[in-house]
Amino acid sequence: MPRPQPTEKTFRYPWATNDYRTEFLESGTHALSLAIAMAIENKQVSSVPEVILPAYGCPDLVAAVLAQGAKPVLVDLLPDTAQLDDAQVRHAISPACVAVIAVGFLGIPERLDVLSEICRQHDIFLIEDAAQCFPPSGSNAALADAIVLSFGRGKPINLMGGGALIYRNDLQQHAKKVFDGVPFVHRSVGFVWKIKRLLFNWMMGRTPYWFVEKVPFLHIGETRFQECRGIRRAVMPAGLVAAGIREFYWRPCVSEEYRKALSDLRGSGWRFLKSDGMDPRRSKLRFAVLAPSSAVREEAELVLNRAGVGVSNFYGGILPELDGMEGLFDHKNFPVAKDFSSRLLTLPCHEDVRQSDIHKIARIMKELYLVEWPRGADRAS
Ligand SMILES: *Cc1c(COP(=O)(O)O)cnc(C)c1O
Repeated sequence: MPRPQPTEKTFRYPWATNDYRTEFLESGTHALSLAIAMAIENKQVSSVPEVILPAYGCPDLVAAVLAQGAKPVLVDLLPDTAQLDDAQVRHAISPACVAVIAVGFLGIPERLDVLSEICRQHDIFLIEDAAQCFPPSGSNAALADAIVLSFGRGKPINLMGGGALIYRNDLQQHAKKVFDGVPFVHRSVGFVWKIKRLLFNWMMGRTPYWFVEKVPFLHIGETRFQECRGIRRAVMPAGLVAAGIREFYWRPCVSEEYRKALSDLRGSGWRFLKSDGMDPRRSKLRFAVLAPSSAVREEAELVLNRAGVGVSNFYGGILPELDGMEGLFDHKNFPVAKDFSSRLLTLPCHEDVRQSDIHKIARIMKELYLVEWPRGADRAS
């Protein structure tokens, strides 16, 4: 059966280096699943292959692993971050382990240098999941064996769907096997798609942010567990991807405003996520803060949501606690990830969030939690 050839790349993708190739797929989850298939090809273990992922993370990761007949192995985090605890990663690597998935969370990249060293020692794949973290960092020093992007709604590059698998040039043998027989779909970017996208962008741009926050399908972070089936490659016009990338860079970034407005709260036990060396332009999805305790987080979530600010806890729990995950993991005890998820509060960052909104959020939070703040003063109506 003749297979259509991938389209010629007419422009240079910002992640492209001579070390990597790019293939487009129907979704980020499909791309991740094929990255795992390549890792399985690479290691060829005799028992069920295992893949390491963070205990707090996107349920799509689990779906991508299961779709390849592999077993997800969860690892706890470093305190106050969504980053893997490398000591525990080492501990979790069994002879059947084929890959570690390093997830950039809300624009904050994983520590690929640390993780790639561990992966090299064990001859397993390091897969960078950059679905929330554009541009990916793994291609810089060729640290990642494969990199995954998502072009879904609410992701940094929003093309209303699609994803990319970026893999090391010298893995072409594996890639050939893995992609062989995976059917192509032509993303229809015709009239209907253009109208849909126009409407989506119009809604995001014109709707008051508190309303956008109330429409669940418009934001990320409420991913439910969905099986990954029927993996398909996509033909993505280069112009479309280029437009999505341009749009990402144009979109304003309010995370620095949040940092300034909320910095006083750090004296009252609130924390920002560690983001050493992060390019602040990257963080455009939601702004994450950690409350001093889960009780404080719950109270702040209630008060802010009542005031019309759409705050969320993102995934709502560590992976073993989410619906559909019953019986999938050997261990359920991940105290650091559990603590992280119970204190995590994410604040809206989309383009309609104005400086005045940020100040309102900061005022509400300071009234409640800033020790020196005169209670009752300057209270919003
Ligand atoms: C959204 C997301 C995915 C999956 O991408 P889709 O294009 O929605 O399939 C994978 N990993 C992370 C971290 C994500 O946020």
